[in-house]
This record gives sequence, structure tokens and C-alpha cells, in this order.
Amino acid sequence: MTRKLAAGNWKMHGLKADLAELAAICAAPQPGCDVLLCLPATLVHRGVCAAEGRIAIGGQDCHAAPQGAHTGDISAAMLVDAGASHVILGHSERRADHAETDAMVAEKARAAQAAGLMAIVCLGETLAEREAGHTLAVVGRQLAASVPEGADPARLVVAYEPVWAIGSGRTPTEAQIAEVHSALREGLARRFGTGAAEQVPLLYGGSVKPANAAAIFALPHVDGALVGGASLKAADFLAIVAAL
Ligand code: PEP
Repeated sequence: MTRKLAAGNWKMHGLKADLAELAAICAAPQPGCDVLLCLPATLVHRGVCAAEGRIAIGGQDCHAAPQGAHTGDISAAMLVDAGASHVILGHSERRADHAETDAMVAEKARAAQAAGLMAIVCLGETLAEREAGHTLAVVGRQLAASVPEGADPARLVVAYEPVWAIGSGRTPTEAQIAEVHSALREGLARRFGTGAAEQVPLLYGGSVKPANAAAIFALPHVDGALVGGASLKAADFLAIVAAL
């Protein structure tokens, strides 16, 4: 069985003082699932030191190249050097703000895995795509194209995040989440074989909060969550962790 994963995404939030929230998460009794906080790059090393191994720390993006003239970017090796174990790739905000394509996400995922990171590949449909009935086609295409050739399924996490659900307070119905996760599992099985596909954590992301977490986590092929806003406060995030 896939081990459950509660992953937080702090996005562009967080100063040194906010690590008090991380400390509160770490001080809680050891949960029955893996817990990860993906911090702004400036906090990754401090977060790793503060966490003392009680939770995992990740980044929110990396460049596809190992090093070079890419002002403002960060490489996978730099995240590893800072103590990160995971990196979020292809988040819809990166796809929108930085015009990241599936092909670019795949190159980043290749670089992340080569550096030893777990690559959390995000995908999800827009509202227009859902309303047009294209959701499964869109996420199927994103899965195929955003996970690179030769990817290691043991270093892969897939996060289904409908663009319209992120930060909006809206979520798909339970049936809609289950339908997409089941399709993603089948897509992974065609790619990697059933056994390996079952080991890839499939996270749901998009307005997960304490009130809806348990119902979402009970769905088939939902192995955890990628949580944005509700990961910023320890009390909210711990309530979600407890539901997993
Ligand atoms: C996210 O940023 O990945 C996300 C799911 O955000 P939120 O939980 O705030 O919708």
C-alpha cells in the first residue's frame, strides 16, 4: 500500500518568524503518515534545521539545468544541498506565471530525480476544460507529457490540482476526484506497470481544509493532499494531517 503523504505548499509566504508554525507541526505527536512542507527557497535550509528530521522539507520549483547562467533560478542540486527531499514541479501558478509547459515540467522532473529529489508533478484542468468535458483528456495528456521518459516511479508523486479549485474554496465533487485519480492510476500503470504505479502517491490539491479532508482522503486512489492556504497555520494543517 502507498504510504500516505500530507504535503504543504507555502507558496510565496513565509519569513523566518513563520517557522514557528513549522515548529508547532513538528512538536505534534508523530502522525501515521509522511508530512512534508514545501517552503520558499529562502527558508528551505532553516526549515530543514528546525524540523530536525521530524517532517520532510521541499522546494517549490527547480531549474532543469544542473547549474549555469540562470539568474534568480535554483537548481535541484541546490535544494538537495539545503536538505530538501522533495520539489513541487508544474504547479498551475508556475504554469500560468512563468509559461511552463508540460515539456519544461518534464525536464525539471528529470533534473530533480537525477539530483535525488522526489518530484511532485502537478497537473489539473481549468474550469473551462472541465465544463467542456475535457478533464480526463487534459490530465491524461499532462501526465504523459509532464512525467519524463525514463522517470523513476519510486521518486515520483503526482498531484491532481484542478486550477479552479486552488485557493478558491471550491472543490470537485467526491465522484469527480475519484474519477480523475482512478484515471491517473491507470495512466501510471500503462507507463510503469501496475505494481510500480500503485506505489506512486496520488495527491489531491485544491481548497483542502480540515472540514473536507477526511471525505477526500477516504476516496479510492487518494493517497494524500497538497495543501496551500491551510498549510500556513499549524492548527489547520495538523487537523488535515490527522484526517489522513
Ligand atoms: C496549492 O497551492 O497547491 C493549493 C492546493 O492551494 P489551496 O490549498 O490554497 O487551494
